[in-house]
Amino acid sequence: MIFITIGLIIFTLVAIFVVKRTIAILIRQEIHAVGVIQDQQKEFLDIKKSLDLEQKVLEEQVSQIFTLYNLTREMTRTFSENKTFQTFKTKLSESVSFDDCLLLDPLAQREIEEKQSQGYLLWTLTGQRRALGVLAVSGVADDQQAKMTILANQFALALRRVRLYQDIEQLAITDSLTEVHTRRHVMERLEEERSRAQLHKTNMSFLMIDIDFFKNFNDQYGHLTGDQILREISLIIKANIREIDIIGRYGGEEFCVVLPDTDYEAAVYVAERIRAAVEAATIKAYDTMTKATVSIGIAVYTQDGKEINELIDKADWALYRAKKEGRNRVCAFGVYHK
Ligand code: GH3
Ligand code: MG
Ligand code: MG
Repeated sequence: MIFITIGLIIFTLVAIFVVKRTIAILIRQEIHAVGVIQDQQKEFLDIKKSLDLEQKVLEEQVSQIFTLYNLTREMTRTFSENKTFQTFKTKLSESVSFDDCLLLDPLAQREIEEKQSQGYLLWTLTGQRRALGVLAVSGVADDQQAKMTILANQFALALRRVRLYQDIEQLAITDSLTEVHTRRHVMERLEEERSRAQLHKTNMSFLMIDIDFFKNFNDQYGHLTGDQILREISLIIKANIREIDIIGRYGGEEFCVVLPDTDYEAAVYVAERIRAAVEAATIKAYDTMTKATVSIGIAVYTQDGKEINELIDKADWALYRAKKEGRNRVCAFGVYHK
């Protein structure tokens, strides 16, 4: 009996020991599993953190691209330099805070230095071949300067587009040989000036200028030299009219000039000054030194005509008269038709 009891006790002890060990092993395994899960969770958290960061960077990039797109779209609605700059300033204020923003002429060195000394930050906007302008901005925080640079570059692109358009527009109204206006442009301006004279009840005059015996220059020196003589004479005419007067090449070796706010006496005075200047000049064309004269016909709004076609016809008639009377002279239509 006693052996059985002892045996049972030993068996019970062994059983308890085995159960305890098993439980301990199980607990250790559980703890290990929890550790693994904790490690994995930490890893996931790290991944989530870096994804969040990446998302933030991407969101920032998207917002920047959207700002640039928006800015470009608004700025390219116009071909006016002033409007483009105003749009830039408005859009800039939506993404960067600043006090003042100016667009300076890149050649205005003194003004640029003055703004710099007043604490303005400067961005030089460059095109393909030339500086387009200098952007002077005050009150930009340090952490906004990188953004400001990106937006300034975008503005430079818009400004380049406007300047290219201006160049093309200028080319379209400029005679390629003499660099005075084309006939079409002068005709448009003549009509504008006629309307203005009508509105303000002022005078306006129209000159037709033809080079005397121009054919002889071509025959004597060749067409290239003839072209150069044409250019030189256009420069003499330009030098003897005001900034507001409009000179054009009417055709071949004929020029025309619109003189706003100019009556008969003043027109005769200007025409005579041009005639005398051409006569006095020694014209240098490549290796050739030569002399030339011009004949000029004048028509005055309103005394000679109220419509531009009438004025052109009458100036042409007066020019024909000047040729007939011996060339190198000025004739006004009105003198013969009082
Ligand atoms: P005038 O006006 O005094 O009566 O004589 P002109 O010899 O000037 O007149 P005409 O109309 O007979 O000849 C004009 C000449 O101008 C003929 C043409 O060869 C020349 N001409 C016209 N356009 C150009 C040009 O662009 N370049 C050159 N080199 N010559 C030109
Ligand atoms: Mg002619
Ligand atoms: Mg001629």
